[in-house]
This record gives sequence, structure tokens and C-alpha cells, in this order.
Amino acid sequence: MEKSKNIETLAIHGGQHPDPTTGAVMPPIYQTSTYVQEYPGKHKGFEYSRSQNPTRFALERAIASLEGGEYGAAFGSGLAAIDCLLKFLKPGDEIVACNDLYGGTYRLFTKVFSDYGLKFTFVDMSDESWADALGANTKMVWMETPTNPMLNVLDIAAVSAKAKAAGAMMVVDNTFATPYLQRPLDLGADVVMHSGTKYLGGHSDVVLGLLATADKDIADKMYFIQNASGAILGPMDSFIALRGIKTLHVRMDRHCENGAAVAHFLDAHPAVGQVFWPGLEGHNGHEVAKRQMKKFGGMVSFTVKGEGFEKTAEVVSALKVFTLAESLGGVESLAGHPASMTHASIPKEEREKVGVTDNLIRLSVGIEHVDDLLADLEQALDK
Ligand SMILES: *Cc1c(COP(=O)(O)O)cnc(C)c1O
Repeated sequence: MEKSKNIETLAIHGGQHPDPTTGAVMPPIYQTSTYVQEYPGKHKGFEYSRSQNPTRFALERAIASLEGGEYGAAFGSGLAAIDCLLKFLKPGDEIVACNDLYGGTYRLFTKVFSDYGLKFTFVDMSDESWADALGANTKMVWMETPTNPMLNVLDIAAVSAKAKAAGAMMVVDNTFATPYLQRPLDLGADVVMHSGTKYLGGHSDVVLGLLATADKDIADKMYFIQNASGAILGPMDSFIALRGIKTLHVRMDRHCENGAAVAHFLDAHPAVGQVFWPGLEGHNGHEVAKRQMKKFGGMVSFTVKGEGFEKTAEVVSALKVFTLAESLGGVESLAGHPASMTHASIPKEEREKVGVTDNLIRLSVGIEHVDDLLADLEQALDK
């Protein structure tokens, strides 16, 4: 029985119970590949760690609980979790996805699964006419919100309703928002996907992927593929992710607070062109974000005034508190240059169409003292 429906309590207790053998409050790291059988086929429900592992199970229950689902599954990376969902489909099936996708997701879609007969259509889901792309063979609708790196906000309830009406499975990549800021299953999605590498793990020390659903049929297939394809998360990494999740709400509050300060600072800075952060009044998804999200998150993208790679590269290189690195969602502040880093795998014309220009910088605002973050940005921009 859950102790509460409040996410702050779920982050710590959701799906968790003391270890049955010792009473250990934290789930032990069951670093074992196999389990003893008393008699052939007679065992405690654990046979082999690809199929069952108590530490992984604890993490899987935690994400199910946080997302308001019933079933969770943990994978060796976010992309492995996406790979599992794509294996629900057959040659000829179509997937309609938002056009501002994480670069690795786009690569998996277009460079791997398109060779297996799946057809991908990329649309602007902020424009209602996106639904024209839905057809008889559309089996899955895929969205990310807020999107990476443009921080576009898409209406989960509206898109899910159209996907459902077309008989397609609705998947939301909830990596940027986390269940603390928004819960897609409550808004009509069938499956939530996470790169747990980011905010859920929260400390830049583990790579993992998660799925959560409330649908028993989807869960059966998800567990079948998880076991049959084998891209499971190991027990040690499951433990690290679980420990990270326990402070999710506290970290997210500070990420959001610092994100707001950074966004407003950049918005007022003369060397900055545009600022992309859903909390800004002028942001095109601000109204949807107010309705759909508890707060506006700690991801902020902006352009440096004037075109060109070089000037922008100088700014990100001059940062001292922000670390120049890929990834996001850790306690430390990171700065990235999407065009040459996370989104380099997307062709230049494609990425510029959605706004990933050479002068775009993406910040993952961490939980350091806000004055140090603002001072760092100031000195880098003033150069
Ligand atoms: C990082 C990321 C992924 C991929 O996850 P990995 O853990 O790196 O495999 C997918 N979607 C989004 C939004 C991400 O940020």
C-alpha cells in the first residue's frame, strides 16, 4: 500500500519496502546473475538476473509509482528504453513524432529502425494540423515536452486525445520535466519514457532508461521485450538511480528557481538574442506550460547575438562554473552547444529548421548558488 499520493513522499517511499530478508531500509544491491533453486523449477520467483533482479525491481516500482502508473521497466540507457518500445511495431507500421526531438532518438528512428520497415513522419505538434499525418497504419505517436533543445512546450492532453482517437499508442518522453513537474499518464499518455541519466538520477553518475505505464497489455509486451532483447539495467546502477530519485523534488525546486533567475538575467542581457524558457511570458508555449507543468524547469536555451559558430564557442568556453559538456539534469550546471554536440547527428538544414542554429547555447542550470551562476554568465558574455 502506498503511504501517500504526494510526489515528495512517493520519491522516497513509492514502491519501496524494507528488504524482506534483513529489514535493510535501503534496497540491497543484489549483485548476482543467478539464484538457487530448491528443486528444478522450485524457487523464490527469481531465476536469472536478466529476467528478475530485486534491486532493479525496486527501481521499476519507484518509477511506476512516481508516474502514477502500475508498471515500470528499467533499461541500460534511455535509448534502450526507446528501442524496446519500437520493437512493439512491425514493418509497415508508422510512427508520427514531434519534429524537435532529442538527437539520439532521431538517429535511432531514422538510421536504425527505418531499415526495419518502420516509417517515421516528423511534424510540428504545436500546430493542430499535425493530426493530418495520422493514418490507418499509424501505430505510435511520439512526443517530447519540453523539447530538446528549443524548450518548445506541447500540449500532452490535446495530442494524446488525437492519438487515442486514431488508435495509436501515445508515448511521452518526460526526461526534461520529470514526474515532479508533469505526469503524462494523468493527461492521457499510454507510456512515459525517461532517460533516467538526467534529472531522475540527478548526479551525472549513471546512464539508464525507464518506461512506465498503467496498461497491463502494454506492460506484458514491455517486460517480454525487456527480457527477450536483454537491454536491462544492472543492480548497481539501479541502486544509484534509486538513491538519486529520493531527492528529486528538492533538487527540482532549486533547478527551477535557478533556471528562472538565469532566464530572466539572459533575457535582459544586451549580448543575448533570444531566450527559450517556458516560464517567460513571451515564450510560445507559456500558456500550455502554466496549465500542464507545476514549474518551468531548469533547462534554458539562448542565442548569442550575431551569427556564427566562433563567437558562440568563445562564450561557452569562457564559462567557469558551468561545465562545457553533453547531458543535463545533474546537480552541477552544464553548458552545451547543440549544433556541434548533442544535435550534430541531425543534418544542418533539418536542425536549423527547428531553431538549432550555430549560435544556440543550451544550459542545464544546476543547484549551485544562483549568484555564482549569474556572475559566470556575465563574465563570459562580457568578453
Ligand atoms: C538523454 C536523452 C535521451 C537518451 O537517453 P540516454 O540515457 O542518453 O540513452 C532521450 N531523450 C531525451 C530527452 C534525453 O535528454
